[in-house]
Amino acid sequence: VKSKAKKAIKTAHAVQHAAVLGAGIMGGGIAYQSASKGTPIVMKDINDNALTLGLSEAAKLLTAQVERGRSSPQKMAQVLNAITPALDYSAVKQADIVVEAVVENPKVKSAVLAEVEQVLADDAVIASNTSTISIDLLAQNLKQPQRFCGMHFFNPVHKMPLVEVIRGKDTSDSTIATVVAYASKMGKTPIVVNDCPGFFVNRVLFPYFAGFNALIADGADFAVVDKVMEKQFGWPMGPAYLLDVVGMDTGHHAQEVMAQGFPERMATSGQDALQLMFAQNRLGQKNGKGFYRYN
Ligand code: NAD
Repeated sequence: VKSKAKKAIKTAHAVQHAAVLGAGIMGGGIAYQSASKGTPIVMKDINDNALTLGLSEAAKLLTAQVERGRSSPQKMAQVLNAITPALDYSAVKQADIVVEAVVENPKVKSAVLAEVEQVLADDAVIASNTSTISIDLLAQNLKQPQRFCGMHFFNPVHKMPLVEVIRGKDTSDSTIATVVAYASKMGKTPIVVNDCPGFFVNRVLFPYFAGFNALIADGADFAVVDKVMEKQFGWPMGPAYLLDVVGMDTGHHAQEVMAQGFPERMATSGQDALQLMFAQNRLGQKNGKGFYRYN
């Protein structure tokens, strides 16, 4: 296995220039992380305000590092210079790797992926940061599906170490090797997983949320469950707080994907705690009220 892995890593393309499509929460975070770890990146969006916001979020993180003495104003300027905002594809052309991080909509993503494939060099790699859409489905419109895979970061990108590298049925070993090498250079811990509903993390997380929902249905107090998981079990946060961080809309969507993908194991009651919170527009931290209140 080791020699196979070594051989695969040798086939990785050196990533000198990267691009990210979408400058939202994830795209902005990916741009910041890539630039901080020495790979210049073009950050493309269709919305100028998103680019401004993405850059200002990066500047905020860098300022905090300078204030804590972990970085210098020179390094901060260098990192910000390594992020090139763009509203068209002209600067994206030279990228060795493109990470797509636009809205979670299969039609929009497929169109964007086909669009970017046309401008890239033949040996450039394309990855999608989708949380829930099948990699094989997204590969359908591509001329070269062998150069495509998933690259699933977690929020906030600068803090969360894990990256799921998702292999589709046509993904080549050299594509996987390139994405693994790039994720490692970004200071992340990549794991390679096959394409399936929930990839790895949501397949672990959603049975856990299902257990939590069942406890609540049986009369447990969510705050007590959180306390037990945090204090006695040693997890950084309990399930209710985690759902508030993820957002009930995102959680609800992923729950539906899991229920469709694994109907025997992951079917829901239609009335569980996550579904009820979503129905009541208690989305979590993003709108100030979820299991807990934030204002
Ligand atoms: P977001 O809404 O914050 O940002 C999406 C950005 O894409 C917006 O700035 C929008 O203007 C831009 N966009 C839309 N169409 C575009 C196009 N054609 N070309 C370029 N840019 C375009 O979304 P987000 O939370 O950053 O999520 C992005 C992706 O990352 C989604 O696939 C999501 O599932 C995935 N993801 C999100 C999280 C999370 O916690 N937010 C975690 C992991 C993965």
